[in-house]
Amino acid sequence: MIVILRPDTDENSTAFKKTWDYLEDLKNIRLQKHIVEGKFQKLTEIYLFGDTATLNKEAIEALPAVERVVRVSQEYRILGRHKDRMRATGFDYNGVRFDQDNLNIFAGLCAVDTREHVELMMKALKENGQVCTRMGAYKPRTNPYSFQGHGKECLPYVFELAGKYGIKIIAMEILHEDHIDEINEALDLTGRPTGVMLQVGTRNTQNFELLKSIGRQNEFPILLKRGFGITLNESLNAAEYLASEGNAKVVFCLRGMKTSFSEPHRNMVDFSLVPAIKRLTRMPVCIDPSHSVGSRETSPDGIPDIFHATAQGIISGANMVLVDFHPDPIKALVDGPQALLLKELPKFLEDINIAREAYEKRKNLFKPSKTVK
Ligand code: PEP
Ligand code: MN
Repeated sequence: MIVILRPDTDENSTAFKKTWDYLEDLKNIRLQKHIVEGKFQKLTEIYLFGDTATLNKEAIEALPAVERVVRVSQEYRILGRHKDRMRATGFDYNGVRFDQDNLNIFAGLCAVDTREHVELMMKALKENGQVCTRMGAYKPRTNPYSFQGHGKECLPYVFELAGKYGIKIIAMEILHEDHIDEINEALDLTGRPTGVMLQVGTRNTQNFELLKSIGRQNEFPILLKRGFGITLNESLNAAEYLASEGNAKVVFCLRGMKTSFSEPHRNMVDFSLVPAIKRLTRMPVCIDPSHSVGSRETSPDGIPDIFHATAQGIISGANMVLVDFHPDPIKALVDGPQALLLKELPKFLEDINIAREAYEKRKNLFKPSKTVK
């Protein structure tokens, strides 16, 4: 059961104290408080765990600080929507808003290789008005002899260049909880010029101990990729692991499913699930067209498959795009064949605008019409 308090309830107010004392006295019930930072207001939600079936919803709704009470299903307790369309979504991080209504683009390098390439990438982003990027320092590779990423060695120059080019957030995959400390050390060393979104890759979606340790920190938001060979429900439960440890600033990313039926694409594009995830949970939904499609092939209409897949996600309401670019894909150490060229960035962004406008128009078409008196 979730008890949603009136917006901006002050924890020192008598109304809050009366409400909290009543809930605390309930037998066999454990309380957990969560603050949801909305666009215009702060919402406090109190989660009731334990023997909630017998609780009197009306009595709780009558408490002075309570706005409403939502009975939750067992799954995705914190991140779930529980059939309540009104529940607040999203969070702010380093001046950037993430929710189910807006859109952020994270174009960048799959793997950091040279300082020069990082700088060319970030310069292009700045020239195109972008404030977010992706930069892989720790790479999970199929072959143990393949390049594993430059790790902590590259972090200082990546962060310093991010500051130089006004990048506010870098999505960066981590493979071990120690990487959080390494990122923090490098941020301290460089004067914290940028923010980091911790990415959990598809190979680690069900690495529960890693999820728990990432969920225990509250500084960095998290980008959780869907597991490439598990059900959606299993991946959404993985997201709930993060929230259950205290960090609900989670963006959920679709990146395609592993199956040979998707050939010639690298993975089966699963972006039709964007609206379903928004209905089931409160997480903003990201799409990764690069790892889904996996190549720079272009269809006879002149549009590259990666652009098509991106538009398919955007027109369904995706809230974030994670996409590989590289100044010189032939020299890229990881995933060169799927990297877009820097000169394609303006068209990529323009194409996204077209699809986003179409999505907005579609949303208006389905808006409930106002009743005329
Ligand atoms: C990546 O984004 O670089 C990556 C390794 O993706 P995934 O975990 O989806 O394979
Ligand atoms: Mn990659």
